[in-house]
Amino acid sequence: MYDFIAVDIDDVIRNLMGKAVELHNVNFPSRPIKHSDIISWSLAAVSPIGGLIYDFLFQANVEELYLESECMPYVHEGLNYLKNASKAVVLVSNQPTQQRKDLTLTWVSKQGLNVDGVIFKENKEELDFDLIIDDKQQTLDKAGPDRGIRFLRPWNERCEWSGLSMRSWADIANIIKE
Ligand SMILES: [Mg+2]
Repeated sequence: MYDFIAVDIDDVIRNLMGKAVELHNVNFPSRPIKHSDIISWSLAAVSPIGGLIYDFLFQANVEELYLESECMPYVHEGLNYLKNASKAVVLVSNQPTQQRKDLTLTWVSKQGLNVDGVIFKENKEELDFDLIIDDKQQTLDKAGPDRGIRFLRPWNERCEWSGLSMRSWADIANIIKE
């Protein structure tokens, strides 16, 4: 039984990059990108509009991006499993603006997720959790392989990592024992 399990939101719970690719390709149909093209933390590296992709997604289209992204598959079942394995499951997320925090809270509240709260924090690894499930390699590296579980995404699967990894919420029972 764990005390506190932290779960990242974007691209672990919410399929933000799936929606980002969809928005990109609707607006730039002659230069489509694929989710599997995003093999680093840099979206500018894969988009034909380069660094303008950040304004396109996080300013011009931020409401659609944040509110209309779907849950990752089996999130509800996965979080229910974690709740049975711990005293508290908290969603943790780094959202750099108040607008993105507010939109994230609106999205979370619509999903009906079985969690104990949401914490916004830039340096998530500083929180006193027993485990964190995250897709950001930098956060995992700072949390350490004993506390981090990597949620595999195209941008992290080439990174060195000696801790556990999961590809889908359907795998959670094989990764964490109740
Ligand atoms: Mg994330």
